Amino acid sequence: MFMFNVKTNEKVHWIGLTRSEMREHVAKLGQPHFRADQIYNWIYSGKIKSFQSMANIPKSFRAILDQTSGIHPLSLVKITGQNSSLTRKFLFRLSTDEMIESVLMQEGNRTTACLSSQVGCAMDCDFCATAEMGFQKNLSVGEIVDQFLFLQQKSEKIITNVVFMGMGEPFLNYTRVIKAADLLNEPDGIDLGARRITISTVGIIPRIKQFTKEGHRYKLAISLNGATQNQRLQTMPAAKKYPIHMLIDAAKNYYETAKRFPTFEYVLMNNLNDRTTDAENLIKLIGNLPCKVNLIPYNEIGGNYKRPSHGRLTHFINALKNAPFTVTVRWSNGTEIDAGCGQLAVNAGGGVQS
Ligand code: SF4
Repeated sequence: MFMFNVKTNEKVHWIGLTRSEMREHVAKLGQPHFRADQIYNWIYSGKIKSFQSMANIPKSFRAILDQTSGIHPLSLVKITGQNSSLTRKFLFRLSTDEMIESVLMQEGNRTTACLSSQVGCAMDCDFCATAEMGFQKNLSVGEIVDQFLFLQQKSEKIITNVVFMGMGEPFLNYTRVIKAADLLNEPDGIDLGARRITISTVGIIPRIKQFTKEGHRYKLAISLNGATQNQRLQTMPAAKKYPIHMLIDAAKNYYETAKRFPTFEYVLMNNLNDRTTDAENLIKLIGNLPCKVNLIPYNEIGGNYKRPSHGRLTHFINALKNAPFTVTVRWSNGTEIDAGCGQLAVNAGGGVQS
């Protein structure tokens, strides 16, 4: 049957397919183009649970769709956090049985979905819970977009922003992450503005260059987490392959070519990178590159690293007062349910069943 992947014998799912891919599929079933357009609208409205709810599709064709394909590549296992919480964590099972997590966050008028791009991660950042899982696999386009659709279904408010800051290094699953972002951005579909989608990388320089060259309008965030090469090396093994000065050059090239500000994420860890001298080194490192620096007080995961005290944070922030770049501080919500930045690791116990 055409909707099965012949190599893996896995059922193919509609979420993740573009409009033209859907047209190809329905054509193979002897159906007209507009049938694919109808399915596309149903699928990305995010409001249907089964083919049977697709009222404008003939019953006989709905039955064929049911027998030969599926809608969701993911199944929702558990939601941690109450409906009223500012932050809720979602646990999903892939059709191949691995688990991933996503986070829904509410802050003022912003509702943000933090999506995963891989099962586990190979980057091995020392402060990150996901790193402990090791790398298992890249997510498909459908598995990425489906996280968004599930979160939207369970959210009281319309999701206004997406960040690729969940499990995995998005730029090591580059093609699928970009395709997923394109589907989220599609004006006839989910229609999330490009500037509301942020792709975060640990600093995979060749992919930053590719992203720049291809002219994507999504926001670029780079996890810096240290102001010198040695400091980065202490917690981020990727810094060995992608040295800090080359990374800053790639960010400069991005700014000059795309005319957009990159964001540098800087996780502040007690006594590691939170001294006044670190702030001064950060100013020297970035120089006059127009950008935003987002400071993230570390969310503890029970390891070696600690969140700096309020006093230390204030000193650090004050030392950046005259920096030529914009500085923001992100106080992660959801640390009590391990949904803060760097805390995602699959844990199937507890929580609210869906
Ligand atoms: S911080 Fe990001 S890149 Fe580093 S190990 Fe964790 S998920 Fe991977």
